[in-house]
Amino acid sequence: MIVTRQKTLEQILKMLDGKKKIFIIGCGDCAATCKTGGDEEVRQMSDFLTQRGKEITGCAVPEDTCVSAKTKNALAKFSVQLKTSDAVLVLACGSGVQCVKENDRTHCEIFPGCDSLFAAFIDKDNVLKEVCSACGACVLELTEGVCPVTRCSKGLLNGPCGGQDKGKCEADKTKDCAWILIYNRLKEKGKVENLKKTLPPKDASRSKKPGIVLKK
Ligand code: SF4
Ligand code: SF4
Repeated sequence: MIVTRQKTLEQILKMLDGKKKIFIIGCGDCAATCKTGGDEEVRQMSDFLTQRGKEITGCAVPEDTCVSAKTKNALAKFSVQLKTSDAVLVLACGSGVQCVKENDRTHCEIFPGCDSLFAAFIDKDNVLKEVCSACGACVLELTEGVCPVTRCSKGLLNGPCGGQDKGKCEADKTKDCAWILIYNRLKEKGKVENLKKTLPPKDASRSKKPGIVLKK
């Protein structure tokens, strides 16, 4: 999932300066989980903007804002309201904002209400964790499932560096050193030999941006 943080209310008001009629689109998936664009946050944003003199023409919270077909259907239901709006505020990730823009036939201005932070999984304690940077050349089979690209502060492919202290990272003492984690896991599995293999530099051509893959 994509982790988002809502922009501050001051930033949102500044973006919408001069726009009177606003349509708000949230996201029932990732942004709802992050509490940045689900039903409740869309309602709160609607109340806030109304108090600040804006007219809310409508609100929609589709299940997957960044799925083109679903966004298109969701927007079609509100075509009348969208036509009378000056602006659309999207409380979702950057993919969601761009998907709304691509499906928009109303020629409204589209504004992002959130900042996208990272792709994450949710652990057993409900913490959203960034553990993969989509580098295009995965090495998790050699590192016992700990990603050095993302979880080592320096992104070292051959670690640890000399800075780890009692298993903590020199760049952030609150974080476990990724390479000590890797070492401990390899030791547990009797695979410390893996560390003798020097990983070659990443092949940057395998993580070309923007990424495009045909959905099967
Ligand atoms: S090695 Fe690359 S693809 Fe594998 S988890 Fe790390 S960033 Fe993601
Ligand atoms: S201390 Fe560990 S996690 Fe931190 S930069 Fe060095 S190798 Fe990476």
